[in-house]
Parts: sequence; structure tokens; C-alpha cells
Amino acid sequence: MVGVICRPNTQEKLEILSADAQYDLACACSANKEEHRRRSGDGRWIYPVTLPNGGKSTLFKTLISNVCSNDCKYCPLREQMDIRRCSLRPAETAKVFLDYYNQRKVYGLFLSSGVLGSADATMDRLNGVARLLRKKYGFRGYIHLKIIPGASDAAIEEAVSLASTVSLNIETPGAKNLEKLSKKKKYIQDIIEPIKLISKLTARGSRYAKTKQTTQFIVGAAGESDAEIVKYMHGLYERLKMHRVYFSAYQKGLGDESIAGEQAKEEPTDILMREHRLYQVDFLLRKYGFKESDIIFENNGCLSLGIDPKEAWALRHSEAFPVNVNRASRFSLLRVPGLGPVTVKQILERRKQRFLRRIEDVGKVGVRLKKARQYLAF
Ligand code: SF4
Repeated sequence: MVGVICRPNTQEKLEILSADAQYDLACACSANKEEHRRRSGDGRWIYPVTLPNGGKSTLFKTLISNVCSNDCKYCPLREQMDIRRCSLRPAETAKVFLDYYNQRKVYGLFLSSGVLGSADATMDRLNGVARLLRKKYGFRGYIHLKIIPGASDAAIEEAVSLASTVSLNIETPGAKNLEKLSKKKKYIQDIIEPIKLISKLTARGSRYAKTKQTTQFIVGAAGESDAEIVKYMHGLYERLKMHRVYFSAYQKGLGDESIAGEQAKEEPTDILMREHRLYQVDFLLRKYGFKESDIIFENNGCLSLGIDPKEAWALRHSEAFPVNVNRASRFSLLRVPGLGPVTVKQILERRKQRFLRRIEDVGKVGVRLKKARQYLAF
């Protein structure tokens, strides 16, 4: 049952709604360790983010409403929960955000919401804030809008036209897994078709090509394997040109007991490591030229928690090593555990000037180069 709507002031509503926004990570929040779950000490609705150029900044991140008519078992905001519910109006949201923006406390806005009434009514609130900011106040900065599952094509197109980034959370790989988590959400109709529409609207050369699309998997709630997640992630990048995929480890105790009892068996530390391994795979796919078939899974379809996925590939492919530092291609160097794109670029530049004779010629020997040394030949 939906709880009583309270009448707190804007500040009190932000306290509630920004705390509830913490579970959504699909907003360029840093993927480093626990950073993406941290909020700044300055205000509970200000979250650290990594900018497209790699720099750090802060984002004003809140829900516009934590009222929700959906039943997602993993979510503490689901309809059945007896929690304090409230909503922000578009005008007050735009105003309070601009106050922070004008004081240079935040770089942009991330807005999400529970389903308040219907998907389109909720979209109208989210779009309403962006409409005010863009059209009334002339704001040209960063706006991230959440797309509500089941929203109409028209509402989605308006969001895409107003936002810098939009995201609709895929949540889990495949309809069978979603059925374990929600009786109301329809995987193809409410999630996959809208993601495809956004992909089409934002395709290269199209009217909204500058708008980016991201999504998020909730990890461990449906008993899904990492192999299933990686298969869907690869498809999202390859076929739908998704800008970024994020992962949020299911946190025991927040969801329905049937998840905690039957499906999410992992220990808290294991599930966080699993999330971390998926981020490492994401990097391998996006930045290192790895394909889905290069990812090594254990017999149960999960990534090793003990060895990172790049090292797991190297251990399985001893024929690819050692890699000759002075002659190997960028592609081969990127396969070496411990070498990232920055170090590989450094190697390619340095070897144009001189012959590299030992690991010290590559760079300062820290943990990563110590690891790389065993896979390299000079
Ligand atoms: S739609 Fe599902 S995940 Fe989103 S707020 Fe509602 S219950 Fe939570």
C-alpha cells in the first residue's frame, strides 16, 4: 500500500528523495570502488561524478517522487513498502537546482522517480523540470533524465530532446529474470522497445545525436549469471550503441524477503566484488578491444572473484605471451595484465625514440607494472 503523502517543505523532501535516489547509479557516478555510493558532505543530494573528460565534479541527484505503483522486489520504494512518501513539483525542483548551480556547487542535474500515477504522468513531471530549465531559465548544462518503464514514444522523445543523457534501467538480463522480480513490468514492451527507440532517436547523424543513453543492471537479485549479464551488455554496446552500462549490486535487506531467501545468496562482500568484476569486463569491452567470447567464466557462469577478467584471459591464453614491448601492436599490449590504455600509449611513444630494455623504461614500477613484467619480453 502507498503510504500517506506528507507535506514537508522542499528541504525536507530533498532529504527523503535524494537519499532514495542513491540506488540509481546510471548517471556517470564514479565506478571506482565505493565512490559511486558516496555523497558529498556538503548536502545529501550532491553526489560526486566523473566528467566525460575524466575530471571530477558534483551532480544534484534526486527523485522527483518516491511514490511508486510498481512492485520491483529488489526496490525499497516498491508499492507494498510502508515508507514516508513525498513528491517535488517541477517548479520547486528547477528553482532549488538553479540555486545550487548558480553557487557553483553542482555541475548538473540527475532526475529520477518512482511511478507516480502513470508512466506518462511521471514523465511529464520529469520533462517539466527540464522544460523549465531549458526554455524558461535558458540552462544549457548537464541534465540526466530517467525514462520511466512503459512511457509513451512521445514522452520519451521529449525527454531525449531536452536531456544531455537519458537512462532506462534494463535491471536484469532477459524476460525470464524480470518475471522473478516484477509482475507488473513487461520486459520487451516497457524496457527493451523504449531502449531501442532511444537508440534510434540518438543514432549518429540523427536530430538528437548529442543525447546519450545509459542503463543499469541490478546485480544478484534474480539469480542471474554474470555470463547472462555480459551477453546483454555486449548486445547493448554493439547493437544499440549504448553509451555506458552501470551495475548496482543488490543490497540484502532492501528488497522482498523472497529475494534475500531464495535468489540473492551472495555475501555482501562477494556481491560488491561481483559488481566490481562486471565493471572490469565493461572496461575490457569498451576500451581494450575484448569481445564477449574473450571473457572467461567459471562453470557456474560467473566471473572469478579471485582473479580479474583480464588476468583470467591471460592465464587461459599462454600462447599470446610474452608480448614484445618493442614490437607488439597496441592491441597485443592492451591484452597484458597490468597495462592500461595510458601505459600502452606511453610505451608506443617511448619506443619511437629509443629501444626499451627493461621494465623501468616503461614507467615507474608500481603494483601494475610489477604484474605486467611477467607477461613482457624486452
Ligand atoms: S519502478 Fe520499480 S525500481 Fe523504480 S521506483 Fe518503482 S519499484 Fe522501484
